[in-house]
Amino acid sequence: MQPQVDIAIIGAGLAGATTANHLAASGAKVCVLEKSRGAGGRMATRRTENQLRFDHGAQYFTVRDPRFKAAAENWEKQGHIALWQGRIVEWAEGGLIDKTNDQRYVATPAMNVLCKETLADLPLLTRAEVKSLQRVNNRWQLIGKEGELLCDADWVISTAPAEQTAAIMIASKQILQAAAEVRMLPCWAAMIAPENPLDALQFDGAFINEGPLRWVARNSSKPGRDPSQETWVLHAGPDWSKAHWENERDSVAADLWLNFSNMVGSNAVKPSVAIAHRWRYALAEAVHAERCLIDRNLRLAACGDWCGGPRVEGAFLSGLETAEQLLAC
Ligand SMILES: Cc1cc2nc3c(=O)[nH]c(=O)nc-3n(C[C@H](O)[C@H](O)[C@H](O)COP(=O)(O)OP(=O)(O)OC[C@H]3O[C@@H](n4cnc5c(N)ncnc54)[C@H](O)[C@@H]3O)c2cc1C
Repeated sequence: MQPQVDIAIIGAGLAGATTANHLAASGAKVCVLEKSRGAGGRMATRRTENQLRFDHGAQYFTVRDPRFKAAAENWEKQGHIALWQGRIVEWAEGGLIDKTNDQRYVATPAMNVLCKETLADLPLLTRAEVKSLQRVNNRWQLIGKEGELLCDADWVISTAPAEQTAAIMIASKQILQAAAEVRMLPCWAAMIAPENPLDALQFDGAFINEGPLRWVARNSSKPGRDPSQETWVLHAGPDWSKAHWENERDSVAADLWLNFSNMVGSNAVKPSVAIAHRWRYALAEAVHAERCLIDRNLRLAACGDWCGGPRVEGAFLSGLETAEQLLAC
């Protein structure tokens, strides 16, 4: 028997987890449908065969809005997040420019834990990719890849990235138009465990403004990670990612590591693990002006980091505002 709920939420990233949590706390019967194997979305963690863990999506988050601050204080008390005390720099040929001024938080012991904890007591269907919505008896049927019925709901909220939301929300002109205007940029990510630690490097995270890379991080320097095995995450910029989109994963991981090694002068260090992941929708180039899109006639809504503000904080605020507006309906 498929779940019959008040509100079905597509996507178990932070926007979906936040929306579901707030709606459920106010008594709504919700169900979250997620196409991948678990919660987290782009707050992602990859576990390798030899039990190494890499945060290969969002690296950290900053906290500015008072509502996000209140949530973050709560998560910190519960041990779900912690401050990353690593040295963050901007890599410049002339030397390193310190960027440790911002407070940067990470979920512990892995980035995906925050969404998992937020959804811990809520109904979550994983490996449930919503392909379309059908209107039947004034309710929505959420249909999966094989044409199967996944869930039946009064309202549907999509928190998928803009282009994926546009594909699902074709019934709502308002949501479709807004989602179709947002372009999301790609990113190739490489996860590397070097054979020997790069002890000589005087930083744990670096913004890079030239060449293929835009960001590198010593993943193992984050709180709650295993410091005994050094791990690195490298992110390529959108132009390089686009130009090398069809390349083999192994060759992308090798290229990015080579580039990084040459840059920091450690090319004698070989990787014992080198994996690449392709993010088709990493970050919105420019976000839609509103934090949430609600089509009250059709009982459809959309939110996420492409609505009102980018990144982890934007995803949280967008999810929160969507829940608040629906509860006020
Ligand atoms: C490489 C990279 C680096 C980043 N670095 C940072 C950073 O350092 N700091 C920062 O603040 N932010 C960073 N971000 C951005 C941050 O990860 C996102 O802004 C935030 O996690 C978005 O949350 P969300 O809930 O809006 O979307 P998502 O996390 O993308 O969640 C949407 C979910 O919907 C699911 N889904 C999609 N389509 C369907 C469907 N049809 N059916 C069912 N489920 C579906 C997806 O699988 C996904 O789990 C980074 C992102 C990437 C990719």
